[in-house]
Amino acid sequence: MTLPAGVLRALQKLEARGYEAWAVGGCVRDSLRGRRPHDYDLCTAASPAEMREVFAGERVLDTGAKHGTLTVLTDSGPVEITAFRIEGAYSDGRRPDEVRFVREVTADLARRDFTVNAMAWHPERGLCDPFGGQADLKNGLLRAVGDPDARFAEDALRILRAVRFAAKTGFTVQRDTAHAMRRQRHRLNQIAHERVREELTRLLCGRFVCRALMAFSDVLIEVLPELAPMPGCAQQNPHHLYNVWEHSVLAVGQVPAEPVLRLSALLHDCGKPACKTVDENGVGHFYGHPAVSRVLAEQIVRRLRFSKDEAESVLFLVEHHDRPLGDSDKLIRRRLAQIGEKRFRELLMIKKGDAVGQGTHPEDVAALLETERLLENVLAAEACFSLRQLAVKGNDMIALGLAGPAVGDMLDALLGAVIDGFVPNERNALLFWARDRMEERL
Ligand code: ATP
Ligand code: MG
Repeated sequence: MTLPAGVLRALQKLEARGYEAWAVGGCVRDSLRGRRPHDYDLCTAASPAEMREVFAGERVLDTGAKHGTLTVLTDSGPVEITAFRIEGAYSDGRRPDEVRFVREVTADLARRDFTVNAMAWHPERGLCDPFGGQADLKNGLLRAVGDPDARFAEDALRILRAVRFAAKTGFTVQRDTAHAMRRQRHRLNQIAHERVREELTRLLCGRFVCRALMAFSDVLIEVLPELAPMPGCAQQNPHHLYNVWEHSVLAVGQVPAEPVLRLSALLHDCGKPACKTVDENGVGHFYGHPAVSRVLAEQIVRRLRFSKDEAESVLFLVEHHDRPLGDSDKLIRRRLAQIGEKRFRELLMIKKGDAVGQGTHPEDVAALLETERLLENVLAAEACFSLRQLAVKGNDMIALGLAGPAVGDMLDALLGAVIDGFVPNERNALLFWARDRMEERL
């Protein structure tokens, strides 16, 4: 493991003043896995007051003063430095009633959530790993530090963090830890909605999201109670191999790892259980489910306080996921005019995820691929132009000093260059190109 220069300097500064300091948490975990950490945290024996003294005169943010965290703005970016601390009782299941600052790194590591997150590293002293984090990392195991029930009762957010780490890394949650997550999951209702949203979106964007959602549907349903009927809802329909939960989870795994798309895929069919009817042949139907899914999705995005933009996108995609996008140039042009290219593409991705998640009828997927091909054609055709659509006009040519028939000739030349892909249809690019041509002629 190597520390960026600015991080190393901050660490050495603390040590030069006699305060033990270590890199800690996610950066140690990620480095040992051979991943590049996205940020670096330090912890130190210095008290918050001593830390401020050490970094007096530097650019610092007093981010979490109460919890002993100082952010130092180094040349390698911001570094969070936290004083070694232990935490008192958690009477509300969210935050410690008090924190005490201590001088031993192992005491600080003991308050952290999972063994793989409870390791510290120092450039000379090496790894400090009192809870076997390195072994768990090798075996791909996520294990709570200490008694898992007690740890999840202290701070229920750790339950969702576990699912998030499992979804990101594909690690298995160790058995006792997983059982404790289930036993304590009702405590998730004490957690602020914003923190739930943050963990949920990160979880949904994990590479191993399908596995994590299948293993911990009960935890997810604790924070998304609207989805509770999905796992028990058989589709009884020749178009579907899976129950509604399995189908939705598969759809999540099929769309790109982007919060709006992943959440829309998870919610697109959540109205199905409420709409289910079974006909005389024993076949299940879900008439009107997109509208019901939208109503439930609206409760969810409101409660979890998604941004207005994200909420609108999710609700649009959920509501429209079942409508055809069109199988001809004309229909696609119309839909494009109605909803725009961005929404069209998002809807296409949701519909592909939906179709693949059904587990039957590859021809549905093929039809969507054909729609996509038509879309590219329509867009390419629209981009490829008449003089009317060119980003420069006759006046621009006159301003460049052209006159008479030379104006039309230059516009024709520009159009040809755009169509052939030599120059983008952008004003500045076209003006440059025109000037070049004029200079060549001089
Ligand atoms: P990433 O930054 O990739 O999300 P991380 O492990 O750095 O992963 P952070 O939320 O940045 O996660 O937290 C930094 C460290 O603080 C963790 O590695 C863990 O040791 C500790 N930690 C964070 N949240 C909790 C918590 N709720 N309970 C106990 N320890 C926690
Ligand atoms: Mg981090």
